[in-house]
Amino acid sequence: MNRVYNFNPGPATLPLSALEKARNEFLDYLGTGMSIIESSHRGPEFDQAAKDCQALLKELLGIPEGYHVLFLGGGASTQFAMLAMNFIPKGGSADYINTGTWSTKAIKEAEIIAKCNVAASSEDKNFCYIPDKFNFDTKAAFVHFTSNNTIKGTEWHNLPPTDKPLICDMSSDIMSQQIDVSKYSMIYAGAQKNLGPSGVTVVILKDELAQTANDDLPTMFKYATHIKKDSMFNTPPTFPIYMVKLVAEWVKEQGGVAAVEKVNRKKAQLVYDAMDNSDGYYRGTADLNSRSIMNLTMRMKDEGLEKQFIAEAKAVGLHGLKGHRSVGGIRASMYNAFPLEGAEKLVDFMKKFKANN
Ligand code: PMP
Repeated sequence: MNRVYNFNPGPATLPLSALEKARNEFLDYLGTGMSIIESSHRGPEFDQAAKDCQALLKELLGIPEGYHVLFLGGGASTQFAMLAMNFIPKGGSADYINTGTWSTKAIKEAEIIAKCNVAASSEDKNFCYIPDKFNFDTKAAFVHFTSNNTIKGTEWHNLPPTDKPLICDMSSDIMSQQIDVSKYSMIYAGAQKNLGPSGVTVVILKDELAQTANDDLPTMFKYATHIKKDSMFNTPPTFPIYMVKLVAEWVKEQGGVAAVEKVNRKKAQLVYDAMDNSDGYYRGTADLNSRSIMNLTMRMKDEGLEKQFIAEAKAVGLHGLKGHRSVGGIRASMYNAFPLEGAEKLVDFMKKFKANN
């Protein structure tokens, strides 16, 4: 088996032990004579897997009482609309902070439904920083922000200063570092970066916020429906939920979120140091105090050289380093399951490439 160092931004590399466990259990899940993907979502085996998954996420993320953990379909993109439909009251508005492509999309969806106030934005500098000046609307129902900007390579290191309910798109840094869940009213994340495969979105919703939801919505678009049925109103994405459970078990084996955070910071530091010590050969695109520890973005002298870098890196087993198609450049996505040796290999490659070109 030849597994490469996979820098893909999502779907992304997953822990080998989780993949192996899934493979080993795939044809005959726990002696049932069928695969987990052939099992009823209402049967005892899947029910147990979903409950274990929920319990592990609660434990690892330190989710307090008074929160629901939901497994929904439709990706994080569906949440952009759903949270606005549920939590912006009729005639009301919400505050959004725009830090890049995904925040912009969240705003666009919410604006179909209601009035949004962009309380801060870093668009003036091509989203290379996290804003520190805010123009909050006292009437806003909530404040929405994107904790990690997968495409621009920036990440929040402090929460937006507001007493309003905080709603966070945590798709690309959930479970990568310790957070205080009690400071948030809602967290949502597509699974395909730190949690598992694509297909399930984890929603962590505070009951206090859930209770304020608008009621006149189609059934599937109400959080209340999924809370009441514990994410089993319809057929949930069973295989992705089972995979999230396996990935969460792996995080626990590593020593929990504190332990993976330590490794994540080390990986990021290695690569940022290589950029910063390259005399401008590799130029980080994010402001120093806004840098992401998950998605590290950089540019080189010209696009031709970047193309050569990406191709030569791939040839030595470093895959997925191409920046998002909207921005170009180079992006190293190093989520929880990405190994420290991969970051070391990248640093070696960066030094050699610079020496040769
Ligand atoms: N938010 C962020 C921060 C993302 O990185 C992405 C996907 N890369 C999305 C939302 C959209 O997620 P999905 O494809 O699950 O709808």
